[in-house]
Amino acid sequence: MLDKIVIANRGEIALRVLRACREMGIKTVAVHSTADTNLKHVLLADETVCIGPPASSESYLDMPAIISAAEVTDAVAIHPGYGFLSENADFAERVESSGFTFIGPKADAIRLMGDKVSAIRAMKAAGVPCVPGSDGPLGDDPDENLRLARDIGYPIIIKAAGGGGGRGMRVVHAEASLVAAITVTKAEARSAFGNDTVYMEKYLEKPRHIEFQVLADGQGNAIHLGERDCSMQRRHQKVVEEAPAPGITKEQRKRIGERCVNACLEIGYRSAGTFEFLYENGEFYFIEMNTRLQVEHPVTEMITGIDLVREQLNIAAGEKLRFRQEDIRIQGHAIECRINAEDAKTFMPSPGMISLVHMPGGPGIRVDSHIYTGYRVPPFYDSMIGKLIAHGSSRAAAFGRMRMALTEIVIEGIKTNVPLHQEIFQHAAFQAGGTDIHYLEKRLGLA
Ligand code: ADP
Repeated sequence: MLDKIVIANRGEIALRVLRACREMGIKTVAVHSTADTNLKHVLLADETVCIGPPASSESYLDMPAIISAAEVTDAVAIHPGYGFLSENADFAERVESSGFTFIGPKADAIRLMGDKVSAIRAMKAAGVPCVPGSDGPLGDDPDENLRLARDIGYPIIIKAAGGGGGRGMRVVHAEASLVAAITVTKAEARSAFGNDTVYMEKYLEKPRHIEFQVLADGQGNAIHLGERDCSMQRRHQKVVEEAPAPGITKEQRKRIGERCVNACLEIGYRSAGTFEFLYENGEFYFIEMNTRLQVEHPVTEMITGIDLVREQLNIAAGEKLRFRQEDIRIQGHAIECRINAEDAKTFMPSPGMISLVHMPGGPGIRVDSHIYTGYRVPPFYDSMIGKLIAHGSSRAAAFGRMRMALTEIVIEGIKTNVPLHQEIFQHAAFQAGGTDIHYLEKRLGLA
């Protein structure tokens, strides 16, 4: 078992990791910026180290500062959470070469999956279905690119190999705009990601976003924990997530889940990970892998009863996976609302002092949040201040509990998107299940 770890993150996920550690008897070191001395997990941690000023680039992204914090506190491992350095292969490498365990995959796997072109190649080789596309980087020959696009069929999407966060993509509807679109996307990718490699894919017009959770020990064992539907999005940001995905059959889950497991074994994957797919007309198309814990991991935990952070910590301690595929049972349905400090209509961030918090409770309700009455939400970071999760024996039961919880939650002093969630849970189409990734923006009049 790990003796002491550094939690290299902030907010709700840092608290989530701290809670798992405390349950398991692992000591914790909270590293934080000067803006975050009042974070709940910082107040609860066994030790704290201030690693820099508010700007993430000078604190949560400062690799030497985080590694030194591990050194001075005699920690043995570092948990990166999500965002920040969680998918930075150089960081994982530096952590391990400094003698600490990175609580995540090996740097090689992060690097392989961090480049979308190499990721797609590896997935194809492992038998994972991908979006029809250019099968590699686009060259400079316009005629060749025109031919490729014609073969794939319009509309197509040009994507940057190094892209992320919904940036570095351009949809092309007709041949006349293809060559210019490639040039512009390349230039943007060069300045945004320092890598001008772009590739081409068929643009799917009405897909759902369905992703598979995996766990692997890096010692030849891997399992999947079923899928999540994260189609309720705004600007490629997930707003509501649920598991299992409405309408996905046991056979589909088994077929795609097995491919993901196989891919994990092929690339020697270790720790928790997510295979993201677009799903359209009954077919799954791999788009990317996230080599880390995800914001929406609780919905999978609720329906499987497996604590993903605990398993990450066990795996990092060198233990073999404690579950076999046949041990995984899906029970009921879970749904999660991301609660953001923002205006529910304009989406403008709303940092500031929280004058009152009352969190909902009762059967099947889980709240993952670091906020408390008197906490000041700093303006420097992501606006997510927590997640409200409801579990029930069926999708309808989980919806009922979420609706109840959304009437009970009180957060005063700042604006939140709770009114947006209250509205979403009245939508008949959402209740019916299976809405596509454009549904929310269209419904809100944003698309
Ligand atoms: P990022 O790393 O920036 O999140 P992804 O490859 O995961 O990039 O794509 C982000 C989003 O862009 C997807 O969730 C989807 O909405 C859209 N997208 C990406 N590829 C396609 C495609 N081939 N067809 C339709 N939409 C796509």
